[in-house]
Amino acid sequence: MNSLSAKNRSQLIKALQKETFDLIVIGGGITGAGVALDAASRGLKTALVEKDDFGAGTSSKSTKLIHGGLRYLKQFEINLVKEVGRERAIVHRLAPHLVVPEKMLLPLVKGGTYGPMATRAGLWVYDVLAGVSGTDKRQMLNRDETLEKEPLLSPEDLLGGGYYAEYRTDDARLTIENIKAASKYGALCINYMKAADFMYTDGKITGLNCTDQLNGDRIQMNCTQVISAAGPWVDTLREKDKSLSGKHLFLSKGVHIVVPHYKLPLQQSIYFDNDDGRMIFAIPRHRVTYIGTTDTPYDGDLNNIPIDLEDVGYLLAATNQMFPDIQLEVEDVESSWAGLRPLIHEEGKSASEMSRRDEIFESESGLVSIAGGKLTGYRKMAERVVDVIVDKLPGGKNLKKNHTQMIPLGSGQLKDQKAVNTYKQELRQHMGSFGLDAYYADYLVANYGKQSNQIVEQMAIESKHSPEAALLVAELTFTMENEMVNTAMDFFNRRTGRLYFNLPSILPNLSLVLDCMTETLGWDTKRRKEEESAVKAAITWISEFQQKQQITS
Ligand code: FAD
Repeated sequence: MNSLSAKNRSQLIKALQKETFDLIVIGGGITGAGVALDAASRGLKTALVEKDDFGAGTSSKSTKLIHGGLRYLKQFEINLVKEVGRERAIVHRLAPHLVVPEKMLLPLVKGGTYGPMATRAGLWVYDVLAGVSGTDKRQMLNRDETLEKEPLLSPEDLLGGGYYAEYRTDDARLTIENIKAASKYGALCINYMKAADFMYTDGKITGLNCTDQLNGDRIQMNCTQVISAAGPWVDTLREKDKSLSGKHLFLSKGVHIVVPHYKLPLQQSIYFDNDDGRMIFAIPRHRVTYIGTTDTPYDGDLNNIPIDLEDVGYLLAATNQMFPDIQLEVEDVESSWAGLRPLIHEEGKSASEMSRRDEIFESESGLVSIAGGKLTGYRKMAERVVDVIVDKLPGGKNLKKNHTQMIPLGSGQLKDQKAVNTYKQELRQHMGSFGLDAYYADYLVANYGKQSNQIVEQMAIESKHSPEAALLVAELTFTMENEMVNTAMDFFNRRTGRLYFNLPSILPNLSLVLDCMTETLGWDTKRRKEEESAVKAAITWISEFQQKQQITS
């Protein structure tokens, strides 16, 4: 059985109820996905339950950078910078199509947080800690060189710039590729399955009562160990287990906004400081530029994180101050997202000062929770928490050691950046034969790596549609069959990123996608309508928001 085909969901659910698993992972964000891969590849009989879609929590709402965390140097988080700095290179090697080098420009301005001396020293320490070598090493630029890299910067007050290497990714796709790799090692992973309650025997957790979020069915799953990788929900589950004491989470909201690239036509990614001392990213990505992030305490509904005028206004004001010739307005915002950082609370510190380190909590009942950390450090987080489980298992010492640094993600055949570029050229020609431009080839390679071959083959079968529509249907077929796409939003948001990065491609093809899903997944009319409304609500949200802004201003 291909356990990640949405068509096999009922078979998968039967299998989940039959086994007694060595480990059940709660949460299918990047942490849980990494844990499932680590555990399954060491030989543990592993299952993963996700109450929403894979990556639907924080792991599709980040800045989408695999980065060394330059700003954590300021907080003397030396070990964190060292670990995530080194992890960048590993994750890039494992998924060179999906974790791609992205040079970052840090403009230095009169009166800014960072002066040239401090930046030079900081970037040097960063390179040493992260083990950066070759062309990735930092450079200090003078004023003219900085302006050449990014002509949109204002020459007034500009002193120069720091130029250093980071990596860009798609967080939700990194998550699904970990889920897919875990499933190749035999892990059974399911989305839309909520861990509702723990089952106990003599005070120890021996299973979960779960609710199928798609139809309300209840199922029971048995296990010897449970890891909660529930991100912002970690404390909710600790509370359910009656073990929430001592350290707890502090949730910080981060908002990003997306504008069409022609509205903020950056040549290059920029990391600039705002006048409140916080750092902001502005990242060009094909037809858009995205800007983020805010960092504010949050204690509202975890499943519905509002984006306020204040959040959007903050990001627009910071951008307009950095690029005075641009002057973006709320009307220019095409899309946006908000996520919660599950940080470990530290008394007396503000949201941005709080550490991004991860921490493991163990309860009397055997619940092991992991929280905090970064997308970038997920592999090491997984290793640490699976080590805790292995120590508890009889015979655990005989299991294989962690070896996820050797397990390629998504594109086993694309070994390095050179192979990615060669494949991209081939695909550009191939897409050209369908009448599609280079953008689509680049998009396919970044999202699916060598798996694009399967999508392109399917496109040829879908020749009754226009090339764009054929591509969409081929992607949909691939993701329903291999990536457990169960809802239209799974597809438009977390598998293809179209909701954020190619919004105009959605509405013209929505009926086609809904028809295809209705046929493949056997939806009734009511379900089809609900799916349609969910997509339309996500798209029209921004125009409603803009209207609200006009009323309040
Ligand atoms: P989540 O992704 O939230 O996953 C937890 C999952 O558990 C959720 O999908 C949830 O639905 C599920 N769940 C909860 N309860 C249950 C239950 N009862 N049953 C089943 N499932 C359940 N890091 C970087 O390295 N680079 C960046 O550029 C970066 N930018 C960021 C920007 C912002 C604005 C934010 C908020 C964070 C950023 N981070 C970044 C941090 C990074 O995104 C997070 O550390 C990471 O995504 C957390 O992943 P997670 O799997 O722990 O949590």
